[in-house]
Amino acid sequence: MRPFNHINAATLDEAADALKNGAVAVAGGGDLFGALKDDIFPNYPKTVVNLKSIPNLNRVTTDGGTLKIGALTTLADIARDALVREHAPILAEAAGLASSPSLRETTTIGGNVCQLPRCWYFRKLNNRFDCARKGGEKCFALTGDNRYHSVFGGASFETASGEKRVCIAVNQGELAPVLTVLGAAFVTTERVIDAADFFGVGVLSSTVLKRGEILTEIHVPLSNFAKRSRYKRFSFRKSIDFPVLNLAVAVSDGQYRICLGGVAPVPYVALSAEKLLSGNAITPELAERAGIAASEGAKPFDANGYKVQLVKTLVKRELLAIG
Ligand SMILES: Cc1cc2nc3c(=O)[nH]c(=O)nc-3n(C[C@H](O)[C@H](O)[C@H](O)COP(=O)(O)OP(=O)(O)OC[C@H]3O[C@@H](n4cnc5c(N)ncnc54)[C@H](O)[C@@H]3O)c2cc1C
Ligand code: SF4
Repeated sequence: MRPFNHINAATLDEAADALKNGAVAVAGGGDLFGALKDDIFPNYPKTVVNLKSIPNLNRVTTDGGTLKIGALTTLADIARDALVREHAPILAEAAGLASSPSLRETTTIGGNVCQLPRCWYFRKLNNRFDCARKGGEKCFALTGDNRYHSVFGGASFETASGEKRVCIAVNQGELAPVLTVLGAAFVTTERVIDAADFFGVGVLSSTVLKRGEILTEIHVPLSNFAKRSRYKRFSFRKSIDFPVLNLAVAVSDGQYRICLGGVAPVPYVALSAEKLLSGNAITPELAERAGIAASEGAKPFDANGYKVQLVKTLVKRELLAIG
């Protein structure tokens, strides 16, 4: 790793000022320090600002009808927290499945939802592929090895100089689909963003957060969706492996929410399947049709057609399990 200045921010204002001056934020470092060690960025940051030194950002509380989770709460604390387990058990379960036991003790919910893509061109040592997602000109995965990439198209975005670019990397975060079906709200130093609008694609970014904007809290409404829900991840290795595809399903009063990770540049809400299921009880036939509906519109590349079958199968299975 190359040297950099390290600031332990005492307040959100101090951290935000540092970020506006070009620093990079670190929470648990599970994503960021690996990226710095592998030297994947076109410009090495001069300063890293630690958010964990800011007090009171790692608490879990309930307030009226809302479960409030500080952005610096670790995944391990979320997995074992009594309030999370009572009000949003699916979130505790998903947090407890991410990465490894030791990483979960240090990595945070805020870092998990802000993590950068795992695309192997993006992550290649020493910035070997200066791809579109880093401000470069092309997406190497479009014509290269795209077995882990999107089956629902690419995301178009603009670089700082106004150039149009496309990226087909997926959002592979553990908690993104879960927080989406829970209808979570993301509180930042500047605004409140609905889960449906929080994830995005930009140069060195996987969210709509602006430079200097810090995620401070995640609010989960206490609802029947939170109580009756399921989480499933599919990965090739049994442990310490990112989900190739993950899925959250929730139901309340005959209304269904289905969100998939690992299939699109942002968490993918399976609207056609939700519509098909609306007001109906799950039967084997309906679950099968919903799986097919969830995969509608998929256009896999040469190497990732297997994901379409995974979508159909996992959606069907989880609907049958939720009943
Ligand atoms: C071996 C290994 C296995 C892994 N397996 C998984 C897995 O199975 N599932 C999974 O989801 N992830 C996995 N990860 C990725 C990662 O460790 C986690 O997602 C982790 O939760 C990141 O959190 P962090 O606090 O360490 O974030 P950091 O690495 O500190 O930060 C990640 C990014 O988020 C930004 N950021 C952090 N906090 C904030 C905030 N409050 N406001 C604004 N921006 C912020 C940082 O600037 C940085 O760009 C794995 C990582 C490793 C090394
Ligand atoms: S998929 Fe995205 S991150 Fe991967 S090479 Fe293409 S532009 Fe870069």
